[in-house]
Amino acid sequence: MSLNKISVDDIDVKGKRVLCRCDFNVPLKEGKITDENRLVAALPTIKKLIADGGKVILCSHLGKPKGEPKPELSLAPVAKRLSELLGQEVKFAADPEVVGPNAKAAVEAIKDGEVILLENTRYRAEETKNGEAFSKDLASLCDIFVNDAFGTAHRAHCSNVGVSELVDTAAVGYLMQKEIDFLGNAVENPVRPFVAILGGAKVADKLNVISNLLEKCDTLIIGGGMAYTFLKAQGYEIGKSLVDDTKVDYCKEMLAKAEKLGKKLLLPVDSATITEFPNPIDAPVDVVIYDVKDMPADREGCDIGPKTAEMFADAVKSAKTVVWNGPMGVFENPTLAKGTIAVAKALAETDATTIIGGGDSAAAVNQLGFGDKMSHISTGGGASLEFLEGKELPGVAAATDK
Ligand code: ATP
Repeated sequence: MSLNKISVDDIDVKGKRVLCRCDFNVPLKEGKITDENRLVAALPTIKKLIADGGKVILCSHLGKPKGEPKPELSLAPVAKRLSELLGQEVKFAADPEVVGPNAKAAVEAIKDGEVILLENTRYRAEETKNGEAFSKDLASLCDIFVNDAFGTAHRAHCSNVGVSELVDTAAVGYLMQKEIDFLGNAVENPVRPFVAILGGAKVADKLNVISNLLEKCDTLIIGGGMAYTFLKAQGYEIGKSLVDDTKVDYCKEMLAKAEKLGKKLLLPVDSATITEFPNPIDAPVDVVIYDVKDMPADREGCDIGPKTAEMFADAVKSAKTVVWNGPMGVFENPTLAKGTIAVAKALAETDATTIIGGGDSAAAVNQLGFGDKMSHISTGGGASLEFLEGKELPGVAAATDK
């Protein structure tokens, strides 16, 4: 799928002030970045802007400061780590107003090929409301805008959508292009067989994704907590497993839709069950495996069982394109992570194009050390899900057409 938007390859940034919206929303623990994938993923665009002699002004949000300065959510640690990754200084424009006197002075002083990072855009209350005042502030800092923040593309905020509408040129960066290429091609133009795997806690979170993917894929695999509402819809006892009773009819509709379209919909045939949910989540648990037809009423299914893991892995083996979103069980607990690991391993071992849709599944794949075995790991959980639903992402739509 090619994106019909102006990209960083189409613009001349020499001597120009370029505001580049990145997704530096990284997990922090005591001021230390615990997962820097999003920083690494942003480097190609930043390097290109530096090499072309732009005056590079980076911005991003981090966490949810709710419209006011929160020192623990400052982007200062990101500036430090980015300087190391780029091998050149990224000057941090500390400023409680984000675009206040300090930031303006830093932009005034910047030379071609230099880089500054603004403070967390969500320090400003207007940001998440796409308010005009902050969009204007951001636009006043630059000659050209580049949006490379795929992880925020499903939101219409000042720093992606508002500012795009106020500048002459709003281009997309390499990461944005790569995300749309991988996810777009997988859904709209997949090499078949195309297998989609969905897991995670709730059916309700992924209603439109299930429906849209059923139309596009050849096989839809459903595991994780969300599988139990489907099993209930098929008439099975699911004991104390996670269920959404308001969505049982929806699951029946999806089962009928799969049959009508001639698509395979694979559900668990066995479950790893427990009696008490672990607290803390990684506490030891006693697991008994039951076939889904034999599940006792006092048990809770917290992972797919070994037969299911094998069946899902077999489906992956015969695929040419695989998209995966959501863990197969309570993977935070080592005893209940087996199903998620088996699926991750199957993806790591196939030659098919493998795409991980961000969020928990991306974290699981990286933690298990399979990260470099996947064709693409999305940097945006929510954004990739909305894309898989077939929705237009406002952050992409706002960029200038070719
Ligand atoms: P994100 O929204 O970050 O992309 P995700 O889509 O990968 O996340 P979620 O829907 O947030 O996934 O669900 C992940 C959670 O689901 C995990 O915390 C996991 O423990 C839980 N989960 C998975 N299977 C079960 C189950 N059978 N019973 C209870 N909880 C489960």
